[in-house]
Amino acid sequence: MENKKELRNWLNDMQLSHPLVIAGPCSAETEDQVLKIAHELKDTDVNYYRAGIWKPRTRPGNFEGVGAIGLNWLKKVKEETGLKTATEVANKAHVDLALENDVDLLWIGARTTVSPFNVQELADALKGTDKIVLIKNPVNPDLSLWLGAVERFYNAGITKLGVIHRGFSTYKKTKYRNIPEWQMGIELQSKFPDLPIINDPSHIGGKRDLIFDISQTALDLNFDGLMIESHCDPDNAWSDAAQQVTPDRLVEIMKDLRIRKVDDDESKYASKLGALRSNIDVLDQALLETLSERMGVAQQIGQLKKERNVAVLQSNRWNEILGKMILEGEQKGLSEEFVLKMFKAIHQESINHQERILNKS
Ligand code: PEP
Ligand code: MN
Repeated sequence: MENKKELRNWLNDMQLSHPLVIAGPCSAETEDQVLKIAHELKDTDVNYYRAGIWKPRTRPGNFEGVGAIGLNWLKKVKEETGLKTATEVANKAHVDLALENDVDLLWIGARTTVSPFNVQELADALKGTDKIVLIKNPVNPDLSLWLGAVERFYNAGITKLGVIHRGFSTYKKTKYRNIPEWQMGIELQSKFPDLPIINDPSHIGGKRDLIFDISQTALDLNFDGLMIESHCDPDNAWSDAAQQVTPDRLVEIMKDLRIRKVDDDESKYASKLGALRSNIDVLDQALLETLSERMGVAQQIGQLKKERNVAVLQSNRWNEILGKMILEGEQKGLSEEFVLKMFKAIHQESINHQERILNKS
């Protein structure tokens, strides 16, 4: 897919003075709950009211959504508050019902984007629609799978398109529920600058305390908007309780976020520079995490050496690593001098870690 200018029209036409905000509960639970939250979000920065009607659960036995009846509640939201509405669709039946009930924005969930069959079924069902369709990234970090889904909708004549970055699952234990892999969002923006990209800090963080920082990083990286789960009684939500915030907290978050304005040349320059600097910050963070992980492995080696009673420094192994890294570094445009200095420092730190283990009685 090449970059397509028209993809951004629906967002430009909204003439927002702030990033697009989609907010509302993870799931529609009861009519009262849906309406209560909507009334609290009315007259805030929220542009679209989200509520999951059909919930894709990883394990059976969890709340699977109220189903079609919830669409009546979303209609009431629109009538009573004027907020536009949004929900997730995962098959043709969902699409037909959502269109019949005039939902304004449909999103494709992360578990659906992984399946080209499902995505094609949805694209066929939505052919030529003028509704906004946002495609969440697949659960696994696969940029072509994500783009493939965008292409299927585009080829079905849908031009009010965008993507939602909700993070990726990983076997590693991290502070996130779904690791952001910001590089992917950055790559997507550089290849398709006109494809709107919305960040979902709720599903990335998995915990409400992480929402602010993730949102700020997304805005610093020039994302176009945020999708944030908001509930009147987050702790007792029927799904994703830990990651939802009250409408009051949402308003506070929106007020505290730094938002870059990009209307003149000077601010365009500042915004580009800022985005590149944020990119560097993300990479530096990843460097630190990799280094710390490497030291963890070095410590495990130290433990093994201790049990076997062998020396910490094994020069042939070290020379082998160094030779390989210099060659690989050269291929990646890094000078021999730099690679040598950097690995000497890393190696020294590893030795220090191992020695601490060996000297522990
Ligand atoms: C959701 O938005 O509530 C949801 C189920 O998201 P995801 O598809 O990102 O897991
Ligand atoms: Mn959710």
